[in-house]
Amino acid sequence: MQVQSVRRDQASSRIGLRYEHQEFEFEIPFTDEASAENAIHCACLMLHLGMEGETIRRRMSGLQPVAMRLELKQGIHHSLVINDTYNSDLGSLDLALDFLNSQAQGRQTTLILSDILQTGLPPQTLYARVAELLRAKSVGRLIGVGPGISGCAACFDLPARYFPDTESLLGEQDFSSLQDQAILVKGARPFGFERVSDRLQQKDHQTILEINLEALVHNLNVFRALLRPGVRTMGMVKAFSYGSGSAEIAGVLQYHRVDCLAVAYADEGKALRQGGITLPIVVMNPELRDLDILDHYRLEPEVYSMELLHRLARRKEHGRTLPIHLKVDTGMHRLGFLPGQLPGLLAFLGSAPGLKVASVFSHFAASDDPRHDAFTREQLQAFTQACATLEAGLGHSFLRHISNSAAVARFPEAQLDMVRLGIGLYGVSPDAGIQERLQQVSTFRSVVSQVKHVGKGGTVGYDRAWKAREPREVAVVPVGYADGLHRRLGNGRGHLLVGGRAVPLVGNISMDMCTVDVTGLGVSPGDEVIVFGPERPVTELAREMGTIPYEVLTSVSQRVKRVYYQ
Ligand SMILES: *Cc1c(COP(=O)(O)O)cnc(C)c1O
Repeated sequence: MQVQSVRRDQASSRIGLRYEHQEFEFEIPFTDEASAENAIHCACLMLHLGMEGETIRRRMSGLQPVAMRLELKQGIHHSLVINDTYNSDLGSLDLALDFLNSQAQGRQTTLILSDILQTGLPPQTLYARVAELLRAKSVGRLIGVGPGISGCAACFDLPARYFPDTESLLGEQDFSSLQDQAILVKGARPFGFERVSDRLQQKDHQTILEINLEALVHNLNVFRALLRPGVRTMGMVKAFSYGSGSAEIAGVLQYHRVDCLAVAYADEGKALRQGGITLPIVVMNPELRDLDILDHYRLEPEVYSMELLHRLARRKEHGRTLPIHLKVDTGMHRLGFLPGQLPGLLAFLGSAPGLKVASVFSHFAASDDPRHDAFTREQLQAFTQACATLEAGLGHSFLRHISNSAAVARFPEAQLDMVRLGIGLYGVSPDAGIQERLQQVSTFRSVVSQVKHVGKGGTVGYDRAWKAREPREVAVVPVGYADGLHRRLGNGRGHLLVGGRAVPLVGNISMDMCTVDVTGLGVSPGDEVIVFGPERPVTELAREMGTIPYEVLTSVSQRVKRVYYQ
């Protein structure tokens, strides 16, 4: 075939081909290696068959992602379980092992693998390749299931056990040896590995927060496409990544090459390090008593006061230099050095060789609100001025950053050296155009526990706050204010989605459950309930609650299990 070259821009999913001396460019709606490679093969073939460039471009942009859904769940014995029980071939094994490694959070890895069917390769060749792949991906242990893989045990040089079929695995193993493991369950369909992953998974509560990691990556790429060349990204993963989890989200951001991460507290940074995160981590609220943790886990403090600076400098008279991040207050009037304090700051830094200013930053007070755009520009102006003063005084450059998610699109001139992405990654933007391109990352879901017929005059819930004026059907849902469903949403102010329809919350919300009016909708126990998710934007619930999406996302309580999938 006459394709001369292929160019692929990693971040933006744009692919360029040179075919018979003509440049041809197209875009695909994903960024992962496997999809890009697929698309390139297809485009080559279509060009070869003489199809129009315009047709190819149009068709490519309408592609759906290949259904490869890797689920990550909490397992028994503190393990993590990744489920890929529907297909099994070398390519998907390769991808799934990458996902396993990116999510292992420092755990040992175990692969439970069935025979790989229909490859057309002789078993010895096939399993020699599998063995090579397992070596390359540093898999810790193998559990092989099926006559094919068992017969080729000699190919493998890692600790392994083999079983002739799924029944014997389930019969013989109590899985207690899989303590603290990251486990990939991967089997060809006839092996029925759903039963294996069922056994390995902690039983979910009915109420879960489901996190779509692919949507997170998609959102990251939406923002990357808005950045000027060379601008770096800091992933804001404070407050359990806005409620979505900590090391899980950080692991995905690290894998997709954000430049650094930020948390609010040293303990959050420590948890990320223990979860295998190696990126630089900035701690925005370092406390004086956390200095040991900062040291031990290589966390980099935000410095916002002379007192903190003095303490750090005293600690750092010996040992390796500590990167610090200076916060300048340009009008938010929370933490940070005021411009008038910069001369004193510079004088002190000149005599503190153990500290190195890695970045200088500030924070916009209202970058999402057009009514305050003039103020936002003043903040930017004050910030660039402060940076110039600091750079002249220090005699070296540093990264400058002031933009949060909202500012990225609204004030491109404020992108400077780096932007700090928070709520946008999780799928929320104040800008309608960008909101349209983002995907909501989390779905807060539950199921109906019971449906009650309430006669005329009957009341529902505490304080008898709601009364049926005519016979009604009321569904009970096991989500209460202790899960993050705020009590002020009761009595008609808020809505849930039941079986795809918005229904009003009636009565007071209890600690562990709530009630919705589902009269005439034919709802039964077990039916799906969505508190928020792609079908029911978190912004809508926030409006009903009289707050902002940030608060809704971060108030889903820790007792609600997080389930990740990709
Ligand atoms: C939380 C936070 C951000 C992220 O803001 P979003 O509006 O969520 O993008 C950026 N910078 C600082 C200092 C923050 O604390």
